[in-house]
Amino acid sequence: MSQQLILVLNCGSSSLKGAVLDNASGDVLLSCLGEKLGLPDAYITFKFNGEKNKVQLSSNPNHTGAVEALMEELKKHGFDSSIAAIGHRVVSGGETYSESILIDEAVIAGIEKCIPLAPLHNPANLLGIRAAQEIFKGLPNVAVFDTAFHQTMPEHAYMYAVPQELYKQHGLRRYGFHGTSYRYVADEAARFLGKDKNSLRMVIAHLGNGASISAIAEGVSKDTSMGLTPLEGLVMGTRSGDIDPAVFGFLADNAGLSVSEATDLLNKKSGLLGLSGLSSDCRAIEEGALEGHPGAKLALEVFVYRLAKYVGSMAVAAGGLDVLAFTGGIGENSDIIRSKVLDYVSFLGFTEDKEANTKARFGNAGVITTADSKAIAVVIPTNEELMIAQDTARLSGL
Ligand code: AMP
Repeated sequence: MSQQLILVLNCGSSSLKGAVLDNASGDVLLSCLGEKLGLPDAYITFKFNGEKNKVQLSSNPNHTGAVEALMEELKKHGFDSSIAAIGHRVVSGGETYSESILIDEAVIAGIEKCIPLAPLHNPANLLGIRAAQEIFKGLPNVAVFDTAFHQTMPEHAYMYAVPQELYKQHGLRRYGFHGTSYRYVADEAARFLGKDKNSLRMVIAHLGNGASISAIAEGVSKDTSMGLTPLEGLVMGTRSGDIDPAVFGFLADNAGLSVSEATDLLNKKSGLLGLSGLSSDCRAIEEGALEGHPGAKLALEVFVYRLAKYVGSMAVAAGGLDVLAFTGGIGENSDIIRSKVLDYVSFLGFTEDKEANTKARFGNAGVITTADSKAIAVVIPTNEELMIAQDTARLSGL
């Protein structure tokens, strides 16, 4: 059989991330990042065999132009005729989609209906879907939703304590995000530890620039820290995470901020960046803290404390805690943050293996608790692209 390739697309409002995976091995053969889409100086950068190549999208500086350029790049490497299907990351599937699905016009209408739940992301995801349909004519397209994995959350976990009409009329409830990553890491943690996923009570911390944490038991999501939007939950790069909702009135009265200005402040100027006054990037925060920068030290302590508190609450949701898994850029690399969290939750049965913790970095999975630790902590690099490619292949009948 000739080589079958899966194209995975992840579109933001002004960006497009793409990866071409070999369906048999799961290896990424080519990746790309389109940036400034919608502006005259939009461009796309391709990475192939470790080499980068930047292409200016002058004639069509938008998502379609980026997919056209990607097609040209695929032709250059003789990959174009081997692309068998396209998988799309879609941020919100609301309550409509609890699994990935083959895209047709009804699914496009379904994704459009979820726009109020992800007003910035779903329209961008749709741009990617339309562009792929236009340029890769006749190929199957599959939607893989960030929210789908959390559709198993029980009602008591997803309902906000507000009048129920708001849920019934507007869908106001907790949905959660990062579901594709949780699905991958839950499978991979169980495989790595040689245990049955369905009998593990797991808490997974996906700590990237956006960060959340999830409770998984009986193989399904029981609760997660993000809610209606990704603003709820943990302290993140630029997001505040949990905050008294009365802050909106407070900021209006005392700082003259409108609702949209306050929303912007909590999403884009808060978190590690707001607290430190230095950076949203965890590496810079850790370096700053080591050099004694007071804001960086505070940001690190608040980040870790709030994360550890959430490990405790997610242990309640999972009905106990056998395995704590760390993933995402911070979870996979920051031995400092992992060590501080394990210290806080040592009463739950975690004993850190300091040497193993220092070694589990840069894409290396590893158990970071000692052999006699009652509960296990593990680092598992996430791979959302692979999960999307696997769903895409399965639903396309490959
Ligand atoms: P992601 O959104 O998953 O790509 O993660 C981005 C975050 O991971 C940023 O805050 C980075 O600073 C952080 N990160 C990446 N490498 C390291 C590292 N070696 N140590 C600490 N944080 C890291």
